[in-house]
Amino acid sequence: MTGSIRLARIFGIDIDIHITFFLLLAFFFMVMGASGLILILGVFFFVTMHELCHSVVAMRFGIKVKRITLLPIGGIASMSEMPTKPYQEFLISIAGPLSNIAVVVIFFYPLYVFLGPEKLFYPLKVMAGTAKSAEPLNTLAHIYWINLILAVFNIIPAFPMDGGRVLRSILANRMSYREATRIAVRLGHIFALVFGYLGIVHGQIFLLLVAVFIYFSASTEGMQVDVQETIKKYTVKDVLYADPVSLEPGTSLSKILEFMLHRHQENFPVMMGDEIIGLVTKREVLLGLHERDKDATAEEIMRKDVPAIDLSGDLYTAQKMMQTNSTPALPVVSKGKLVGLIAIDDISRIYMIENETGRG
Ligand SMILES: [Zn+2]
Repeated sequence: MTGSIRLARIFGIDIDIHITFFLLLAFFFMVMGASGLILILGVFFFVTMHELCHSVVAMRFGIKVKRITLLPIGGIASMSEMPTKPYQEFLISIAGPLSNIAVVVIFFYPLYVFLGPEKLFYPLKVMAGTAKSAEPLNTLAHIYWINLILAVFNIIPAFPMDGGRVLRSILANRMSYREATRIAVRLGHIFALVFGYLGIVHGQIFLLLVAVFIYFSASTEGMQVDVQETIKKYTVKDVLYADPVSLEPGTSLSKILEFMLHRHQENFPVMMGDEIIGLVTKREVLLGLHERDKDATAEEIMRKDVPAIDLSGDLYTAQKMMQTNSTPALPVVSKGKLVGLIAIDDISRIYMIENETGRG
């Protein structure tokens, strides 16, 4: 994420901290002094632990976790993909809150003995409104109870928070993934509106921020699932651009431009005999024109790192491959031989057509 600083690397996952987090630190330091600082660092220690637990379970299912970003409103673990099986999503989602509950259970007795009931339960009384926070606070007790708050808050079924994901995974056992997501998203929206209302009425900016975050991320994820489930039903064969003009390594840039104008083709495979050695898209042509002259060859401007997709692959896989390789098109092969191209626009078109007819 832009504006983030690398903090550490655990289990091969980068732990990044967003610079706005330092504003939060400064704010708590000014308001509460050193104990405020320790409190916030404690919060983020347990938020990191929570995210790491999600990540470790996800990694066991073969999902790559690139990084964990700590934001003022909590942590986000960036995963390469969403779990495909409901039980996987269930276990990944429940792992975070469970880790916080484990801390609450494990440290209860030692803290009870070490601090005594008075100091240990004091933060709970402040939260319940039966004690005033003006009394000196015990930082350790506060940090300890943070785990209970993290567990309870995350288990609320407000999709895309953990509880909402757990709910979707349970629903997905009874209905389609798409339908389960729709219900979870709607519930997420309702919770967001309630949080937003409470945030405004009680002047709680934090709650308002969380509400906005939940509302929009629920919509975004709902939309993603909708697209994904729609295009999964189609294969590359359904939208194949067959028999494209292909280039030889020595084809000049001016010749490629001519093809683009006269054949209305934007992407070109570069062939050495029967072998695909690269891909030239509109971007390479524009870059070539900008940085080289018109005699530059296809081999000089092409991308060599674009993988090919099989004719039988589904459109969701194709879209993911385009995304991870940041390319607008892929060469399509069947039995190892080039049979055509697929472009991102073809996939968008399928989604649009499907949605039109779907609504009747
Ligand atoms: Zn979580």
